[in-house]
Amino acid sequence: MHDHTHLASRRSFVASANGHADFPLQNLPFGIFAPRDGAPRAGVAVGDMILDLDAVLAAGLLDGAAEEAAAAAEGGVLNEMLALGAGPRRVLRNRLFDLLSESSAERPRIERMLHAAKNCTLRLPARIGDYTDFYAGIQHATNVGALFRPDAPLLPNYKHVPIGYHGRASSVVSSGHPVRRPNGQRKPASEDTPSFGPSRNLDYELELGIWIGPGNALGEPIPIGKAADHIAGFCLLNDWSARDIQGWEYQPLGPFLAKNFCTTISPWIITPEAMAPFRRAQAKRPEGDPRPMDYLWNEADQAHGALELELEVFLLTPGLREKGMAPHRLSLGHASALYWTPAQLVAHHASGGCNLRPGDLLGTGTISTEGGFGSLLEITRGGKQPVQLASGETRRFLEDGDEVMLTARARRDGFASIGFGECRGAVSPAPSAR
Ligand code: MN
Repeated sequence: MHDHTHLASRRSFVASANGHADFPLQNLPFGIFAPRDGAPRAGVAVGDMILDLDAVLAAGLLDGAAEEAAAAAEGGVLNEMLALGAGPRRVLRNRLFDLLSESSAERPRIERMLHAAKNCTLRLPARIGDYTDFYAGIQHATNVGALFRPDAPLLPNYKHVPIGYHGRASSVVSSGHPVRRPNGQRKPASEDTPSFGPSRNLDYELELGIWIGPGNALGEPIPIGKAADHIAGFCLLNDWSARDIQGWEYQPLGPFLAKNFCTTISPWIITPEAMAPFRRAQAKRPEGDPRPMDYLWNEADQAHGALELELEVFLLTPGLREKGMAPHRLSLGHASALYWTPAQLVAHHASGGCNLRPGDLLGTGTISTEGGFGSLLEITRGGKQPVQLASGETRRFLEDGDEVMLTARARRDGFASIGFGECRGAVSPAPSAR
């Protein structure tokens, strides 16, 4: 559903917004920021600036549902605003679009509520009650499966049930937060006994994050036809993974300490309203794949439920940094590689009665495409084929001082393209292992 807020011809009086790679007027993502010497508050990204949403509310520039949504965003977390769902959020977005437009009658007042983003700190946008990580990237599942089971990379359940596990919400951090290498139990095949120490195979995972909106009561499933209404937005998500710890601990109950030491997200919530022009049909399943069961099947979701989104991963090493060289692009992928739509993940999660709550976070699972692998595990084939860098360095897995940055770009002819902003994290040394 498109409206005037999606027209590529519309411009903002915020000069840096026009043609901005991530945050043109047509995006307007919500987040929590702290200006220098100021308390955290709700804001909206526009070009290189952040609009103080609390100030817009206090100035009396909002009414009706827009006022309701902005009032719910007060207090330094967005959970209550996410709980309101799409209605008030859309009205607020449309009002902010007008206030920030070239022709805005309120330009002088709004200008005083803008902060240069470079002078602000971005926080987590919501209190994340629960975080769940799926495994919906079928190419990733196939690549990883092939490392262990060359003849049958995908397990028999994969094409029937969206695979996932409950992750850890407490260690989700906003872009830029240092990522401390974890200590843990490692037992490579070459060693007879396990030992405790810094992970030797630290990896990243390129994923999309899905923010939950209203959610459901315990015991009340979310029908697939309503699942999209419970998605409040999207972000980038790096599910940092210690492969050596993972390989030793994961059986029989699945991921644990190899995953829970840190998860980095991009701090802006990209709304479904901003993503409206960038919906696409879910990729057709290959001949012979099972049709999703009825509780996961919805015609509209199949027709528009997937995302038109390019994803990139960059690596900046100490060597590249010292030589003044550009970050190395590890991959260019696409969100169309997801075997399940975001709505299917939501419907599946709630299908047994589990309650999703406003501000919960879902990860899609690592997104890999042909030639665009979303982890070093795949790129280096388990560490066997190191990446060669222009600095002369090589990488099997991440070294201390390495920085990983994820970006996303949505584009379609006739529309202003939008991005998700940065999701970056630099690896710092493990604490003493004793
Ligand atoms: Mn993951």
